[in-house]
Amino acid sequence: MKSRIQIDSKKVTIILKIFKKMFRPTDMADKKQRVKEDRKDRQLRVYSRSEHNISRTQISENALKVLYRLKKSGYEAYLVGGCVRDLLLGLEPKDFDVATDASPEQVRKTFRNCRLIGRRFRLAHVHFGREIIEVATFRSSEDGDKDSQRVHDDGRLLRDNVFGTIEDDVWRRDFTVNALYYNIRDFSVIDYMNGMADHSAGVLKLIGDPVTRYREDPVRMLRAIRFSVKLGFSIDPLTEKPIFELAHLLQGIPAARLYDEALKLFMSGKALQTFEMLRHYGLFVILFPQSDHCLDFEDHDFPRLFIARALENSDARIAEGKNITPYFLLSAFLWESVQGLAKEKMGQGDDESFAYQNAASEVLSKQVKSLSIPKRITQSMREVWLLQLRFNKRIGVRPHRLLAHPRFRAAYDFLLLRAETGGAEMELAEWWTRFQVESEAEQKKMTRPPRKNKKFKKKIKDNNV
Ligand code: ATP
Ligand code: MG
Repeated sequence: MKSRIQIDSKKVTIILKIFKKMFRPTDMADKKQRVKEDRKDRQLRVYSRSEHNISRTQISENALKVLYRLKKSGYEAYLVGGCVRDLLLGLEPKDFDVATDASPEQVRKTFRNCRLIGRRFRLAHVHFGREIIEVATFRSSEDGDKDSQRVHDDGRLLRDNVFGTIEDDVWRRDFTVNALYYNIRDFSVIDYMNGMADHSAGVLKLIGDPVTRYREDPVRMLRAIRFSVKLGFSIDPLTEKPIFELAHLLQGIPAARLYDEALKLFMSGKALQTFEMLRHYGLFVILFPQSDHCLDFEDHDFPRLFIARALENSDARIAEGKNITPYFLLSAFLWESVQGLAKEKMGQGDDESFAYQNAASEVLSKQVKSLSIPKRITQSMREVWLLQLRFNKRIGVRPHRLLAHPRFRAAYDFLLLRAETGGAEMELAEWWTRFQVESEAEQKKMTRPPRKNKKFKKKIKDNNV
């Protein structure tokens, strides 16, 4: 009886499969057509030196040294990834990545100043003082060897470490514009993915099926936003659409990696635009769940305005060539949550300072579950928040002590931001602005206890009360 049922269910499965095939002809035709078009697009194109604008003068001397040395030793050597993409736009690349057919061991033997790193995939780092040129051996991710490519239940790639050729290497890259190879042999640009055309059109297109590529590595969603903002490129509709549904996959990414990505996103000089885009695609909530929650309940445009102003400020500082610190922005993101929770605690009878300290701890311990913010940063965030309370104490020696605090400057900037966006009294912010520049004598006057009491006493005396 049991076996008959099993046979029947097998039959049913087969019949269902046949039906599925019969009733999805247009889907299949579409897919075939897409694959065909994809193949047509994926023809190798080589852009000779005269057909592109990358000049060796734009390339770091150390990267050139690495490329030439590899070539001289008989290996293939290319610049690849973001540096080629940026050079084509006339931008200064953040770093120079090299791809080669030499194995990591062979690279190590070619350079004295080289160290191999990485457990998941061995990479060579060639050191020149502070500059590091990363040299990666061509990798294949489609080798079919089960041991070499392991995929997590949700489609995430756990390991992909088989060496391959340049044709294989191309497929593991994320966007077509990140898959251009500058060949040191003849200074040509090699393009397997139609990346040059996408680059000229200003479009970010994932290589392969976007859903699969996002499942393999959900961080690609954040990279799409980052590059779109940085380069002013649009995101191709097929690459864009799945982000809305797959944003939640980022929850499976280690918090340390997400912290690194968040820094790249917000320290870019275009943090405000990045913030708006992340919110639009439902990605911000994954990185900063508590802040996003507060944004849903915004009151008279604060905290939205507050966060936006903090981002704007930090972009302006970068534009002026000034330093920015991650803890300032992170404090701004979470300030509303800290304040909300502290007020709740005060409502339950806690005193102000105690309430804020505990609120800060709770908010931070929730936050580090999604982004593992290093301790020294969370420590500074706490200081910025707690110093806000001390700004209210303007009598006696306290203001002088606060002025000498190592976090005073950041906390004062934070106060200004709060005042500008309606979260603190403008008079208080102005008082502190003045206090910093006044003479010692004037500072003394400013911090003297009010005379109100004396006057009051006199009045009482005069009236013989
Ligand atoms: P930038 O250095 O300006 O942030 P980039 O594109 O160079 O941008 P890197 O993180 O330096 O980014 O990576 C170098 C290259 O490695 C990329 O251009 C891309 O080809 C490939 N790459 C990096 N991360 C991924 C990823 N998550 N998935 C697929 N390919 C990736
Ligand atoms: Mg790079």
